[in-house]
Amino acid sequence: MSDTAQSAPALLGEMPGAEFRAAGHAVIDWIAAYLEHPEHWRVLPETRPGEVAAALPAAAPERGEPMARILDDFERLIPAHTTHWNHPGFFAYFGITGSAPGILAESLIAALNVNAMLWRSGPAATELEQVTVGWLRSLLGLPADFDGHINDTASSSTLVALAAAREAQTDLRVRAEGLPGRPDVPRLRVYCSEEAHSSVDKDVITLGLGMSGVRRLPTDAALRMDVSTLERAIAEDRAAGVRPIAVVATLGTTSTTSIDPVLPIAEVCRREGLWLHVDAAYGGAGAVLPELRPCYDGWELADSIVMNPHKWLFTPIDCSVLFVRRPEVLKRAFSLVPEYLTTPQGDAVRNLMDYGVALGRRFRALKLWFVLRYYGQVGLQARIREHIRLAQVFAAWVDEHPDFERLAPVPFSTVVFRHCPPGVSEAAAEVSTARLLERLNATGEVFLSHTRVKGTYGLRLAIGNIRTTEAHVARAWELIQQLA
Ligand code: PLP
Repeated sequence: MSDTAQSAPALLGEMPGAEFRAAGHAVIDWIAAYLEHPEHWRVLPETRPGEVAAALPAAAPERGEPMARILDDFERLIPAHTTHWNHPGFFAYFGITGSAPGILAESLIAALNVNAMLWRSGPAATELEQVTVGWLRSLLGLPADFDGHINDTASSSTLVALAAAREAQTDLRVRAEGLPGRPDVPRLRVYCSEEAHSSVDKDVITLGLGMSGVRRLPTDAALRMDVSTLERAIAEDRAAGVRPIAVVATLGTTSTTSIDPVLPIAEVCRREGLWLHVDAAYGGAGAVLPELRPCYDGWELADSIVMNPHKWLFTPIDCSVLFVRRPEVLKRAFSLVPEYLTTPQGDAVRNLMDYGVALGRRFRALKLWFVLRYYGQVGLQARIREHIRLAQVFAAWVDEHPDFERLAPVPFSTVVFRHCPPGVSEAAAEVSTARLLERLNATGEVFLSHTRVKGTYGLRLAIGNIRTTEAHVARAWELIQQLA
C-alpha cells in the first residue's frame, strides 16, 4: 500500500498522527477496492498446509518496522492465502458478510478499545448493547420479556444457556459444590436431535456432564426432532435415575437447515420442568420476515434463544446474541465480584461481566447498531428475502435436472443436493458427488461444502453473502453441470 511511512517507529510513544492518517487512508482504500472486487481473489486459495508459516520469520522483529513494510507484507502474503468469506461465490458452511457498515464499526470499536466488563468501564457499550439487542428482539418478533446479551459465538451462547439450565436445578447446588465426588447428584441429561450442532456436545462436555450427558434423538423424514421420541427418552431416563435438565431445539440445523417443531417441544419442556434452549444461530435471521414467522412457532416460549447476527445478518464475525427469559439465573450461575471490580451502589445499569464466562467484553454492539441502522428493517428483509428466493431458484434447477437430486427441504437459503444420474449405485453417486465438490472448489470461482443427510453424501450450497446475486448462483449451477 503506497504512501505510508517508510521510516522505522520511534522507541517510545505511539505512531504519530500524520503517519496513522496516511496508513489509515491506505488501509481504507485497500478495503474499498477489495469490497468492490472480491472476485479478484480465488474464493478458496491454493495454499498448501504450512506455506504461510514458512513464509514468515521465526521470531518477532527486534526493532519496530515501518508501517509501509508491514502493509506490503499483508498485501503480498495474506489475501492470496485467505479463504474469502466475502466473495459472492462463497457458498460453503453458512455464507456470511463482513458488511461495509460493520467494517467501519469494527475500526471504531478498535479505536475506542472499550472493555465493557462493568457499566462504568463502558457505559455507552453497556447501554448500546441493551438497546440494540432490544431492537433485534423486536425485529425478530420476540416478546419484550426476553433479555439479550452479546457473546462471541453461538458455541459460547449455548454454553452460557446450558450453564443456566444446570443452575436452574437449584437443589443440586452445582455452583457451590460442583459435580465430582457427589453420590447425591444423579446423571444429568440434555436432549437434542441428531441434526443439532456439535457445539451442544462441546458445551455439555465443558459443563462436566460428559458426552453421555447429551442424548441425540432420531429425526423424522423432514430431519426434525420427533416429539414422541423426546417424550419417551425423558421417561426412560427418569426411570433409570437420570435427571433431564434441558432440551436444545434447532431452528435451522447446520447440515440441512431443518426446523425442529419448537411449539410441541416447548409444551414437553413446560410439563417436565426442563429448560428449553433454541439454537437459531443461523435460522434466527429469517424471523425478520413476517411471512416466515410460522417456522418459529413456539420459540417465544423458550428459556433461551441464540441467534448470530454474524451469520445471516450481515454483521462481521463475531457477534452472537443470547436471549434469555430469566437473566437472574445467568447471574446466579456466573456473577462473581472480587473487591477490585466492586462499584458504588446504584452505579450500574448492568455489569455485563455478570452474564457469562468472560470478564472482558468487546464493544460488539456498535457493529450491530451500525448494521441495523444502515440497512434498516426493510433493507434487511429485502436482502434475506432475496437469499431465500435465490435458494428456491437453485433448488428448482436441481429438481428439474434428471442427473441431480435434492436431499432436503429448503426452508431458508441453503440447498443440499447430490449428483445422482438415473441407474447409478449409491456408492457411485457418492464418489461422483465428492469428485464434483473437489472440481468445483478447484475452480476458485465458487466454494461449496458437504454433509450427510441420513447417511447420504451431499453438497451444500448456502447463500448468505450480501453480494451474492442470481448471476453468481447461475454461474455456480453452470459449473456444477459442466464439472459433474
Ligand atoms: N448452531 C448452529 C445451528 C450452527 O450452524 C453453528 C455454526 O454453523 C453453530 C451453532 C456454532 O456457531 P459459532 O461458530 O458461532 O459457535
